[in-house]
Amino acid sequence: MKAHPFKNSYYDLGRDYYQSIKPIPVQNPELIIFNQVLSDELGLSESALSSTAGAAVFAGNHVPEGAEPLAMAYSGHQFGHFSPLLGDGRAILLGQVVSPGGRSFDIHMKGTGQTAFSRNGDGRAALGPVLREYLVSEAMARMGVPTTRALAAVTTGEDVARERLLPGGIITRVAASFVRIGTFEYFLARGDRTSLARLADYVIEYQYPHLKQAENPYLALLDAVIEGQAALIAQWMQLGFIHGVMNTDNMSIAGETIDYGPCAFMDHYAHDRVYSSIDHHGRYAYNNQPNIGLWNLSRFAECLLHLIDEDEAAAVEIARDRLEKFISSYQEHWLAAMRAKLGLNSALDEDKALIEELLAIMAGSNVDFTMTFYLLSRLDRDASNDAAILALFDHTESFTQWSDKWRNRLAQEPSDDDERKAMMRGVNPVYIPRNHLIEAAIRAAEDHGDLSVFHALHEVLQQPYDFQPNKEAYMQPPQPDEIVHKTFCGT
Ligand code: AMP
Ligand code: MG
Repeated sequence: MKAHPFKNSYYDLGRDYYQSIKPIPVQNPELIIFNQVLSDELGLSESALSSTAGAAVFAGNHVPEGAEPLAMAYSGHQFGHFSPLLGDGRAILLGQVVSPGGRSFDIHMKGTGQTAFSRNGDGRAALGPVLREYLVSEAMARMGVPTTRALAAVTTGEDVARERLLPGGIITRVAASFVRIGTFEYFLARGDRTSLARLADYVIEYQYPHLKQAENPYLALLDAVIEGQAALIAQWMQLGFIHGVMNTDNMSIAGETIDYGPCAFMDHYAHDRVYSSIDHHGRYAYNNQPNIGLWNLSRFAECLLHLIDEDEAAAVEIARDRLEKFISSYQEHWLAAMRAKLGLNSALDEDKALIEELLAIMAGSNVDFTMTFYLLSRLDRDASNDAAILALFDHTESFTQWSDKWRNRLAQEPSDDDERKAMMRGVNPVYIPRNHLIEAAIRAAEDHGDLSVFHALHEVLQQPYDFQPNKEAYMQPPQPDEIVHKTFCGT
């Protein structure tokens, strides 16, 4: 039995980086779900974090032996405005565990009570957002998107006051790192260059150890974070995922999707779709995500300037050049991803126009994003099987015109049609965590204490790319009266 799974490498950085604080115990914790598969992957199953320890550990009532819990300090640009002091106001980093594969992972609990960073908040999380993060982050992982994972969720037996009283919950999540762009900004804002350099060294050591050999490891770090975000945001776009709060404190240094708040998968396609109730100007709209990615990375580059070159003008020049690479890298990832969605193995110059034309037609007919690509991946080389997809479109003739071009393009593909279909089915999910399904799971749990709806949805989302018998209801776009128009952070 491994009694001490914890390594406390972030704790070892010292008090400038966090507040040392334990989770505040809750009244009556009950385990909702424990992720056995993830626990096994992390090598935790024999440890004090296993399901046998159950609710007490995942509620924060029992701190596992060897852990040095802490609330991380960070700043952040929220909707473009700098907040010098954010930090874990309702979360605790328990520490790091090292997987059997030798990789280090952060174990982080959200909803664990007030910390020095809580400002006016209660430090707690309502059950709804906990279930939402559990469902969406695990679905993202199953779809192959870099993301924090969900290890466990509990109810606390205590109410939290939001617009009304709601049952409280805590989610335990796992990431390659919970260091954010905002963590770097925190030290830049304080003019603490020594701590900033140590933070960069820490990230290189644990996330990007191969960069230690680079001629300029800090510049290599900038490159790696840029590349990670370019790849990540392209994957979001490919799936119709809208993060909703891409503040710099919600952007991971490890290239993973973090901090699931008012996030949503788009139902009916619109380039500028927004769900978040607080995103009044569409800053974090679907099609603005790559721009915001670059904006955030520019804030990151500013933190590293003095480490890149002592001569500031030279550093700015170098950083600008690297940031420009984000645009071309993102475009490449996006094109590759969208080609795959259309079943194109080879690359032709005209593909971009073909993809954009489809998206424009989709927007014109207000069709469901996921359903369109799902049905597209079931089409044949001839139009014999087109009825279902045609039924989606208001303007069927524009889709027919487009599909003629698409089929002509497919004719230039070297792969056979079965390969083409297999490729499309591997990237066009059948099931996504649809807003209205998540909402139904939350309503049942919060209003009636019924977790069965959550569990059933979670089960289906374990295999997002595989058609599952008798699960048609989970594929369907919302009925007009089921559409969720706004999503909330629930903070
Ligand atoms: P988020 O919108 O979840 O990214 O949070 C932004 C900031 O607000 C972070 O510093 C959070 O820790 C803090 N925060 C959000 N909700 C609460 C809460 N209920 N209590 C204390 N701090 C909170
Ligand atoms: Mg956050």
